[in-house]
Amino acid sequence: MLKEVAEGVLVHESEFIQSNSVVVQGTDGVLLIDPGITVDEMTGLANDLHEWGQPVVAGFSTHPDWDHVLWHANFGDVPRYGTARCAASIQDLLSNADWKARIAVGLPPEYAEQIPMDLLGLITGLPAEAAQIPWDGPKVRIIEHQAHAPGHAALLIEERRVLVAGDMLSDILMPFLDLEAVDPVEDYLAALRLFESVADGVDAVIPGHGSVGGAEQVRVRIKQDRAYVQDLRDGGVPDDPRVGPSATLDWLPDVHRWQLQQLAQREQHETPE
Ligand SMILES: [Zn+2]
Repeated sequence: MLKEVAEGVLVHESEFIQSNSVVVQGTDGVLLIDPGITVDEMTGLANDLHEWGQPVVAGFSTHPDWDHVLWHANFGDVPRYGTARCAASIQDLLSNADWKARIAVGLPPEYAEQIPMDLLGLITGLPAEAAQIPWDGPKVRIIEHQAHAPGHAALLIEERRVLVAGDMLSDILMPFLDLEAVDPVEDYLAALRLFESVADGVDAVIPGHGSVGGAEQVRVRIKQDRAYVQDLRDGGVPDDPRVGPSATLDWLPDVHRWQLQQLAQREQHETPE
């Protein structure tokens, strides 16, 4: 079911960790951001758009993780964009003969059979200097940053005062750092500063997973994510409901411990004897 969060901006929420697909109405059809997870959900969304008389005219993936680069033939054969780094990262994965097996190990077993791999990751990278998505509709500004994944992009639909945050600013998932980056903590903090710089122009924040937040939630979530990342850096114990005993998702405390451990290991390697 599509829910309107601002004029001409609609969200479809998946059963799988509240993954949000975003539909932006343009002149001759819609832009589809992070299309969905299961075959049923995507064909359902394609049907809804068809009944509404709104063909998909372009797609966009916020980052190269499997749950953001899926597609279904019923959406049509249209350009699917991502940042240059996003496209390079997923193309790198797809260049391995066993890419399906590599992705399959990370899929949630209860949905694995329902996740279509055929059109996964067929992303056209936009030029590194591209400031907006090339399409006929409200201007969608690309805010690229390094934090959760290579080439991660948030999208700001200025006219609608909507920020599509990708896998950042979630009320259910704490920050997942890109632990392969050179400086994952500073990258994350820098990305949050970038979000802060546009927060005044935002009335709705749509995270990749979780619930849509209103104007006040934008700053609340930036602050909460920053506190988490700082605690991770400083070895503090985060006072964060997302990873505490009452976490909505019971596997998050494990991810938290893993992130702590990974960062501690890096530090050991970096500190001279
Ligand atoms: Zn995700």
